[in-house]
Amino acid sequence: MPLHQSDSIILKTYPLGEADRIVAFFSRDHGKLRGVANGARKMTNRFGASLEPMAHSRIQFFEKENRDLVRIQSADLLDSPMKLFQDYDRAVCAGRLIELVDRFLPEHEPQDAVFRLVRVTARALEQGCPIEFAACYFEVSMLRLAGVFPDLFVCSACAKRLEAGDERFLAPGLQAVLCSGCDHRNATGILGEVVELVWWILKNPLDGDGGGVDRAVRNLHELNEYWIRHYSER
Ligand SMILES: [Zn+2]
Repeated sequence: MPLHQSDSIILKTYPLGEADRIVAFFSRDHGKLRGVANGARKMTNRFGASLEPMAHSRIQFFEKENRDLVRIQSADLLDSPMKLFQDYDRAVCAGRLIELVDRFLPEHEPQDAVFRLVRVTARALEQGCPIEFAACYFEVSMLRLAGVFPDLFVCSACAKRLEAGDERFLAPGLQAVLCSGCDHRNATGILGEVVELVWWILKNPLDGDGGGVDRAVRNLHELNEYWIRHYSER
């Protein structure tokens, strides 16, 4: 039974019996895992706040052959999510982050880019980044890393490269774009400011508010919701 250690983000926990907890966590080196933390439900336990959802903790665990669940030996809190959870709206946003990571990540697959994205988004939220913008930034990046975000900068019919300012349309099904020169009779228009917002998100780290116009952020968030649903249904 080899002992592993990895920086991790806690996703969810469930009670197990009287005293134990099952913990779903996203480890930097081993990807998403689930493990049993013995005694974690007792009033005084050795895990403290290190297994709270969204906590950044260094987890030591044993992996057993042919078992789905690892055994969590110890957990040291590196960064507490407490500040995030002091504000209702930020807490809801953090909860959604966890939900998406849990939904999009396969188990046992390290995804360093996603790990960094979660950490950066949590920090931005703590530092007062506008919530809707942070959520939008996270969704676009997560969908893109999962290979679900459509390429808005190449026409899917004629392969022409599109600049941020060019007119384009979302093809039926909203999975690809069409340029104004191709047949777009059944396609849907997409706001220029939404394309510019996506362009900004793809090119810049998450700080400030990206100059995101409210309307563009709202509109892009609705599109993200559509792609997230579509992904879950396939
Ligand atoms: Zn075209």
